[in-house]
Amino acid sequence: MLKVSGVTIRVLIVEDERDLGRLLAFNLEQAGFTTETAVTAADGLLAAGRFQPDVVLLDVMLPDLSGLEVCRKLRADEALRDAGIIMLTALGRDEERIDGLEAGADDYLVKPYNVKEVVLRVRALARRIGETRDAQQTRSDSRRLAFRELRVDPITHDVRVGDQPLALRPLEFKLLVTLMTEPGKVFSRDELLAQVWDIEEGGNPRTVDVHVRRLRQNLGDHADVVETVPGFGYRAHA
Ligand code: CA
Repeated sequence: MLKVSGVTIRVLIVEDERDLGRLLAFNLEQAGFTTETAVTAADGLLAAGRFQPDVVLLDVMLPDLSGLEVCRKLRADEALRDAGIIMLTALGRDEERIDGLEAGADDYLVKPYNVKEVVLRVRALARRIGETRDAQQTRSDSRRLAFRELRVDPITHDVRVGDQPLALRPLEFKLLVTLMTEPGKVFSRDELLAQVWDIEEGGNPRTVDVHVRRLRQNLGDHADVVETVPGFGYRAHA
């Protein structure tokens, strides 16, 4: 099975020539992709919402609506914005290919195309999308854990105030990351024992208080990032 970020790659084929659609589906399935096929633009849009494809193979000439219009609608959809789109076009003129790219397609193939070539293009596009997603995931995690000059990188475990690195103990680090990952959320001492220490029952809530105190000492001027909510527990706030 071909996977992006550990998930099987889903390819939606929107093609009104049924034999062609079946041929593409067969070859993509053989290559390890999961496919779904639609024969009209309306079906294609419905299938896209349900199937959440990683890559869409989109014929330009569809009976009900232009593939270009389908492409624009997919790009306007929050959930499908990042899908890879390859236009399948019988229109060979340069400006018509560019229309597809301007409508938001990532790539295009001119009919008659070689099915093996389609499979290669889908695979390359799926790989690029996977790399971008992984990078975005890493970046957004890092961005989420930045309060004022305090920067916490959950991947490298680097903690800094401005340029100054802070030396936190592993549990202080885990405590800080747990709080900062959901800013504003109040964690009870029991929740923190469960999430940071993996202690589900019988833990001592004072353990949390002691670590919070040490963490605050290490945070210096940023000690107030970890706020005490009397009677409830702790939360992080910028
Ligand atoms: Ca067609």
